[in-house]
Amino acid sequence: MGDTQHPPTVACRRCLRPDAPALGRPPLPGPSGEEILAAICRDCWADWQAMEVKVINELRLNFMDPQALQILDAHMREFLALAAPGGIAPSAG
Ligand SMILES: [Zn+2]
Repeated sequence: MGDTQHPPTVACRRCLRPDAPALGRPPLPGPSGEEILAAICRDCWADWQAMEVKVINELRLNFMDPQALQILDAHMREFLALAAPGGIAPSAG
């Protein structure tokens, strides 16, 4: 406690920097937040937050509709280069 350490870094899956600045805490509740914390840097998350506004406006997402969250989640995962939800594995050929 109280140590002044280097700020946390993350190997970011989107910008591919090996020591990008980490978020420090999950930006979202639930498993998606943990996943983003472990895989996405602060800068890329900020990029998504700007894009998120555009997506919501463009698609006129209404968060009274639970499907809107899924749509936004899918856009977020695509933007951040995360795996698709539900762990969809490609069938082995
Ligand atoms: Zn990044």
